[in-house]
Amino acid sequence: MFSKYLILLLLLSSFVFLGCKSDQSASDKAEVTTEKVSQVKSVEPQKVLEKPKAKLVKTIKATKSNSIAKVKMSEKLFNYCKKVIKDSRYKKLNSDKICQAMSKNEGCDSVKDRSIFHFEKKAKDSSQGQKILVISLIHGDEVPSGQVAYSWIQRLIDLNPRNTWRVIPMANPDGFFSRTRTNANKVDVNRNFPTADWEEKALNRWRTVKKKDPRKFPGKSANSQPETQCLVDHIAEFSPDFIISIHTPLGVLDFDGPKNINFPKFKPLPWISLGNYPGSLGRYMWAEQNVPVLTIELNNEMAVYNLEKFDKLQDISGTVAIQAIKKAKKKKVAK
Ligand SMILES: [Zn+2]
Repeated sequence: MFSKYLILLLLLSSFVFLGCKSDQSASDKAEVTTEKVSQVKSVEPQKVLEKPKAKLVKTIKATKSNSIAKVKMSEKLFNYCKKVIKDSRYKKLNSDKICQAMSKNEGCDSVKDRSIFHFEKKAKDSSQGQKILVISLIHGDEVPSGQVAYSWIQRLIDLNPRNTWRVIPMANPDGFFSRTRTNANKVDVNRNFPTADWEEKALNRWRTVKKKDPRKFPGKSANSQPETQCLVDHIAEFSPDFIISIHTPLGVLDFDGPKNINFPKFKPLPWISLGNYPGSLGRYMWAEQNVPVLTIELNNEMAVYNLEKFDKLQDISGTVAIQAIKKAKKKKVAK
């Protein structure tokens, strides 16, 4: 008698359990389908349902890459922007003027939820200019690189430039405030870009060649960090013809781009080609997308307040960009 009841009870409870489960998955599907209908009309429902949630978000982002929403520069963001410039002792810079001109893309926040700002100035003749993207402080402890980016922004505000410039002066704010190369997850953002060889080589190279150097950890997977995602989205949205990445302390101008460029002399920093690595911006953009990358490696002696030198460096970068883009585009057509 007792065992009869037990069997009945077991049957009943498993029915209830299965019933709940199937209800739950039905509502999950309904949610994904609604999301799909309202946001990515061109993707077939079956394909979307097969993908895990993270991938779905990425698909939506990629489809909408030309229209990333801008966050309004609230008083709070404006004050934060000013604080960054003040804390960094960038005395010769007008933080009011710079921060008033700054924008922020939706989703451009660090691991610790700090804003990643950018500035954009269009070319005086948009039909002729090229698009140059400047990224600075991707390594948070390379403080003078931020100095260059902010000084270029200040200068661009009053200029009618040949090219359209977008400048991201502080790509790794958590690293900047903790004075670490890596972000708050201890990942080197400049090894986390989704290069085609990332899965095969990035972690392997870090373990063997780099002997697990904690400063160069590429992360557990490609494009896993919010800072990397912000930069990848900027690249997709802005579609730059040329990238300038500002670093310290090697004291060179490292160029990943077409050969036979007429490099203008810049006495403090000689031209050199250091190559690029799995997960790095140079490999992601030049080796894979044919967009030349100039890496400015400042040296430690470069006076932090020598803004005139930085002006010259900006002009030189613009001149090299125009030459390199012409050659890179020819190469693209020939392919
Ligand atoms: Zn660096």
